[in-house]
Amino acid sequence: PLEGRTAIVTGSTSGIGLGIAQALARNGAAVMLNGFGDPVEIEAQRAAIAEENDVDVAYDCADMSNADAIRMMVERAVARFGQVDIVVNNAGIQHVAPIGEFPAAKWDQILAINLSSAFHLIQATFEPMKDRGYGRIINIASAHGLIASPFKSAYVAAKHGMVGLTKVVALEGAEHGVTANAICPGYVWTPLVEKQIEDQAKSHGIARDAVIRDVFLKNQPTRRFATVEEMGALTAFLCSDCAASITGTALPVDGGWTAH
Ligand code: NAD
Repeated sequence: PLEGRTAIVTGSTSGIGLGIAQALARNGAAVMLNGFGDPVEIEAQRAAIAEENDVDVAYDCADMSNADAIRMMVERAVARFGQVDIVVNNAGIQHVAPIGEFPAAKWDQILAINLSSAFHLIQATFEPMKDRGYGRIINIASAHGLIASPFKSAYVAAKHGMVGLTKVVALEGAEHGVTANAICPGYVWTPLVEKQIEDQAKSHGIARDAVIRDVFLKNQPTRRFATVEEMGALTAFLCSDCAASITGTALPVDGGWTAH
């Protein structure tokens, strides 16, 4: 259903972003990948997604903490695809520490990558979307965009900000065929979560298995991690014409966590 559409997915060399890029390509969209990693592995991923789905797939190494790099990525996407119809703001990092010990530089970096990057990318793509009468902006927030946990001050602040930004973009795009929605995942099994298990084990002073059972899945009533495939399928649906009336939402995909 997304044939002829073109997408930029930030942070799509790993985890949720990669799953979303694959889902959009499977639905026929051309995709620009973005994110860090081993250039040889990234090129292999790019070529595989293009070949498996018979769509154009590009890669841009823009650092999401750099507004100029974000604007240049959009210029390259327009040069290659002609336009940008779908933007998925997914790049994100985490740092876990009590407020008293939270490094100020980490706060700035998390706000830049997890929140400000979305503003810059939306700003660079929004007016042409409105002019064409179609656009889809999907912001990957988090259950932590709706509720809080201790030791995650910058992340929770950035993700709540992402939900607020989503609502404003939805209102400004509403009469122009441009929708904006936030997806709020609970715990999804990705490299980002793998790293947090180690950090949480240190913060709480408990073992790995205990972190998985007592910290991660304690609040997720389904007692299972969500999957990147689930995130990809929802994103593809939100990009479809059937989702034209879904805008300004923050959709929990959290196994019931925020139902508590
Ligand atoms: P991940 O670590 O597997 O992937 C993060 C991606 O972002 C990678 O491709 C990485 O290269 C990229 N990235 C990091 N810094 C970047 C920068 N400065 N510029 C460009 N790219 C950068 O993480 P993930 O678990 O797939 O998380 C993706 C998003 O989903 C994040 O915004 C995260 O907050 C959110 N999220 C994840 C979970 C979860 O349980 N995994 C839950 C809720 C929300």
